[in-house]
Amino acid sequence: MQLYKSQELKIYNSLTGEKEIFKPINEGHIGMYVCGPTVYSNVHLGNVRTFMSFDVIFRYLKHLGYKVRYVRNITDAGHLENDADVGEDKITKKARLEQIEPMEVVQRYTVDFHNILNTLNFLPPSIEPTATGHIIEQIELINTIIENGFAYVVNGSVYFDVHKFNETNNYGKLSKRKLDDLIHNTRELDGQSDKKNPQDFALWKKAEPQHIMRWPSPWGDGFPGWHLECTAMSTKYLGETFDIHGGGMDLKFPHHECEIAQNEAALGKSPVNYWMHANMLEMNGQRMSKSTGNIINPNELLSGNNDKMSKAYSPSVIRFFMAQSSYRSVLDLTDAGLLASEKGYNRLMEAISMLPKLKASSTSSINIGNWQQKCYDAMNDDFNTPILIANLFEGAKYINQVKEGSAKLTVDDLELLQNSLNTFIFDVLGLLKDEETQSGSDKLSGAVDVLIKLRHEARANKDFALSDKIRDELAEVGIVLKDGKDGTTFTVN
Ligand code: AMP
Ligand code: ZN
Repeated sequence: MQLYKSQELKIYNSLTGEKEIFKPINEGHIGMYVCGPTVYSNVHLGNVRTFMSFDVIFRYLKHLGYKVRYVRNITDAGHLENDADVGEDKITKKARLEQIEPMEVVQRYTVDFHNILNTLNFLPPSIEPTATGHIIEQIELINTIIENGFAYVVNGSVYFDVHKFNETNNYGKLSKRKLDDLIHNTRELDGQSDKKNPQDFALWKKAEPQHIMRWPSPWGDGFPGWHLECTAMSTKYLGETFDIHGGGMDLKFPHHECEIAQNEAALGKSPVNYWMHANMLEMNGQRMSKSTGNIINPNELLSGNNDKMSKAYSPSVIRFFMAQSSYRSVLDLTDAGLLASEKGYNRLMEAISMLPKLKASSTSSINIGNWQQKCYDAMNDDFNTPILIANLFEGAKYINQVKEGSAKLTVDDLELLQNSLNTFIFDVLGLLKDEETQSGSDKLSGAVDVLIKLRHEARANKDFALSDKIRDELAEVGIVLKDGKDGTTFTVN
């Protein structure tokens, strides 16, 4: 169904700073590129939040009937430490520390990334290209940028000439930075002396003899710059100008700014019509980030095996928690927030399970069509998932009212309510129908609680052999008891 013909979608465009009516380049089709992970360590929940924001966006665009080509890359080379043009390649460093091949690092963490995303019910992108699979395209792009006079070669490396580019173009238009201010604020770092100006960035770096990840090029053995892969792959799969480019807010500068500069320098065109930036996940008021160690991994949250949260949370509760704030707001991950989301999610699921049992009336006292449009309006307003969820709770309230007899719905309206709830909850927000696993895990908790009680009784009777036996045998099947000041809790490994 081509729902997009009857729904007016607005997207906040980071380039213009405004919510704009969305119009794709080719009617009915959308090209969307999202910067993927650098696969040098396990993904943390911050990474997951950004990808989940775009998963929900992808799901809604598909629901509207668009044919979406969603490209999300894997960065498996070229991303140096500090995100600048100095330091060791993140993947090579991990390989050196673990004494394995760089491609083993890539494989290990790509598999981890996919496992997590599968568990959390992500839809796979249409194409998932890698930087190392597109070295030839990147070399071609550099050649064009050199030919057009916007890059220069020094000692086997190639740098983008930001100052030259800015004479005819606007470097900083996405991040709203001025080159003059950048010049003022940049300190010259050691090892950057090959560059004409510190603001220039690497398109190709010469590989020192010890650098393992290297490819031959017209300028000698080396490896591509980090910003270049996204330009090469987005252009290859989505065209010189495409509809939507997304990523985390932290990528706006320099990464996305450099992508724009590379496209304009090579092809004379701005690459993207709508730039979208997802905001950061924080914990204790501080951005979740590998470098500060302020992280929690999805598996730790799913198993409850961490010292930050009181219990384990299901994939649906994690998704629901994230959808309860707008993708453009900062979100703080807290146990209280997750507990509240769990309650909310259970409330929705209970309402849905009651729906088939409701009795229809000959007339309706609620306008379900209006309510359904309010759900669309929320998503059409720059994918406003918290407002959508407020409307879903309104739908759950109708179910309770019909059940109690304080409201009436016809057969058709009951069906419309049911279909809309299913669409938004499962197809668009991507929550799972995990009532069964839910009740399964409730039964498991109940059974373990019985054993915990027996163990306490055994201890009270000084039967330590029995209490240890209960603890050890549970541990053997992966259920670990933790004695704390507020009693005994357990985690499932
Ligand atoms: P990286 O693997 O570091 O290149 O990051 C992969 C993606 O995760 C990028 O789009 C980042 O913007 C995003 N990201 C990193 N940290 C966070 C965070 N704390 N909250 C939301 N997104 C994040
Ligand atoms: Zn990118």
